[in-house]
Amino acid sequence: MLQDIAPHRFKNEYCPRSCKPQDRLLVFSEDRLLCAMEGGVIELPTAAQLGISAEQYAFTLDDAAFFLWEGTPLEERAPWRYIPCKSLRDVGPAHLRFAAAVGESLARWHHTNRYCGVCGAAMAKSETERALVCPKCGQTVYPKIAPAVIVAVTDGDRLLLTKYAGRAFTRYALVAGFAEIGETIEQTVHREVAEETGLAVKNLRFYRSQPWVYTDSLLFGFWAELDGSDEIRRQESELSEAAWFARDALPSDHSEISLTGEMIELFRAGGERSVP
Ligand SMILES: [Zn+2]
Repeated sequence: MLQDIAPHRFKNEYCPRSCKPQDRLLVFSEDRLLCAMEGGVIELPTAAQLGISAEQYAFTLDDAAFFLWEGTPLEERAPWRYIPCKSLRDVGPAHLRFAAAVGESLARWHHTNRYCGVCGAAMAKSETERALVCPKCGQTVYPKIAPAVIVAVTDGDRLLLTKYAGRAFTRYALVAGFAEIGETIEQTVHREVAEETGLAVKNLRFYRSQPWVYTDSLLFGFWAELDGSDEIRRQESELSEAAWFARDALPSDHSEISLTGEMIELFRAGGERSVP
């Protein structure tokens, strides 16, 4: 999955320091990232390679710190060029793909919180934690992380698969949706399955989670068994397709970095109850 980057180690503790020449820079221009790419493999520039330094510490990967570039947009310079973030989901190596994705989420958070939502003053960076603080009214803003569920609804040897309606993403998926204010994550499972398919489920079992930073969300993967009628009443505004698939007839049309893909493959292999 996206976050599985062993033996590399992602260190998310907020320990800002000054940028060193060997540290990596995440230079975004709107929804594009400055990197070198050859044969589906990316490289991210160091401060020394770009001849600049940056101030906004992001995170550390192995022994290299990553910094967000916040200055005026940089010009492309060989071999570094701006590549659309969306096309970086299928590149290697896995640890730099993950770093680019987390950096994209952090950059989006900074960009959308430049001004205080209470008093309108320009936000400042906290020196002690990953937070933005209003110097005028004191409001503190942390990175936005939205909890959401991925639900593999099973009925014996059948798995419920869906396709989103009206989106660029056209692969098969599991039932999914964001938690609403005031509900537990288990209630989110029941509500989303009912809303999208009209089905009831029971025997929820948490599988594992995934930081899906592309949408600033934290996914909670659940197995759930059909409870009662198997008749699907598809929510047409959300889904273009919702159907039961036999274990030996599951499509393999899904992303290799997603929790959805991992759960579909686990069900195909007959191991839906195992938790690694
Ligand atoms: Zn304020």
